[in-house]
Amino acid sequence: MLRAEQGSDWAMAFGATCDRCGGDLLGSDVRYTVNLDIAQAFDPMEVAPAEQRREMRGELEAAIRTLEALPASEVQRLADESYASFRFDLCPGCAAALRDEAKACFRGRQTPRPPQAGETAN
Ligand SMILES: [Zn+2]
Repeated sequence: MLRAEQGSDWAMAFGATCDRCGGDLLGSDVRYTVNLDIAQAFDPMEVAPAEQRREMRGELEAAIRTLEALPASEVQRLADESYASFRFDLCPGCAAALRDEAKACFRGRQTPRPPQAGETAN
C-alpha cells in the first residue's frame, strides 16, 4: 500500500504517478503504459564474394581499433545515439493526448494491437 510519506521518487518508480502530468494513478481505474524503443536501423548484410569479405574484414578491424581508441564519453554518446529505450506510465488524459500527438507527428501510421492471451492472430 502506497502512503504519502513514501515520497514522490518511490511513487514514480512504481508507476503511481503519470510520467507526463504527475497526476495520481493509484486513484484511477485506468492507467496506461508506453514503451518506446529508438534503435538505429541497418540494411541487412549482403553475402559478398570471398575477396570482398577479406577487404571487409580489414575495414571492420580498422573500425574496431578506431572505436577502442575513443574516449569513454564518445563511446557512450555513440551508444546513446544507436539505441534508447523508455517506459512511461500515463493517466487516461495524457494517453489520449499522446495518441493524438503520435498520429500527428508520425503521419497516423499505427500498428495493430498484438494478440492477447487466449486470442488468435488473424
Ligand atoms: Zn497525465
